[in-house]
Amino acid sequence: MQKDEHTKADEKRGLRIKRLKKAIISVFLVLLIVPTILSIIALVQIHHLNQQLKSTNQALQLVTSKLNDLYREMEMQEESASEESVSVSTEANYDEAEETVVMSNVNEGMVRVCLTFDDGPSANTDAILDVLDYYGVQATFFVNGKPGMEEVYQRIVAEGHTLAMHSYSHDYSDVYGDMDSFIDDLDEIQSYLYEVTGVECNYYRFPGGSSNTVSQVEMERCIRYLEACGITYFDWNVDSGDATSGGLTVNEIVDRVVSPIAAGGSDTYVVLLHDTADKVTTVEALSVIIEEIMDMENTMIVPINEYVTPVQHVTVAE
Ligand code: ZN
Repeated sequence: MQKDEHTKADEKRGLRIKRLKKAIISVFLVLLIVPTILSIIALVQIHHLNQQLKSTNQALQLVTSKLNDLYREMEMQEESASEESVSVSTEANYDEAEETVVMSNVNEGMVRVCLTFDDGPSANTDAILDVLDYYGVQATFFVNGKPGMEEVYQRIVAEGHTLAMHSYSHDYSDVYGDMDSFIDDLDEIQSYLYEVTGVECNYYRFPGGSSNTVSQVEMERCIRYLEACGITYFDWNVDSGDATSGGLTVNEIVDRVVSPIAAGGSDTYVVLLHDTADKVTTVEALSVIIEEIMDMENTMIVPINEYVTPVQHVTVAE
């Protein structure tokens, strides 16, 4: 009888301990699971917000570039209106002047980054255009004459990039043999691009840059000739190094482009990149370059246009 009572008491105690254990495990699980779930929800929300921020940023850049286009159009209309010498009242003139000031201030204080691709088109151009299209940014293509690639030139223009000249042949002995051959080559690339795309190109990059040491012609003469033709030439102030013999890794290219821009000191960065079939790392680096630049404050990626201050290694006194 006594033994029975002992057993009952033991059973009861065993049950209490079991319940207690269950309660402790439940509390422990709740303490573990709830914060985990909350963290996951927070992470998802952060990711979502990040995406939204990125697309807002892109939309903003798009709007700015659209405003630029609009302003350019307005300016062209104003120019043609003034050429027709229409008499306008003083009040209207005042309004126009004020409007012009407002529009030209749209990008004041912004750092402009121009991504420029030399030596194309190539087997990589479509891939480069796909990346640019994905991020909704425009670049500049300093191209050579490559019959058979008409559709690529046309795609460059259709997607809003700046089509610019980099000589027809890119053959130093041919382009820089003498002044006549420089002029012939320039005519050839300009008329070829006009024929293929309907665009009259007004931007030029010298093969090897304006400070090249291979030209048989004095570079000053070439520069003056371009000026007389109303063509603006661009060198670069950021070199991706992608033309380095032996090639650079994706990370090296990204670093060479992003570091000088992040360091600041200029309001215009013209980045030298290459569009040739063997420069695969350039294509791979491009999306990282664009994302890092997009993340910088007050910095926008723009194609070369009349609002971009030319970056030139050699300038000729007026
Ligand atoms: Zn080149």
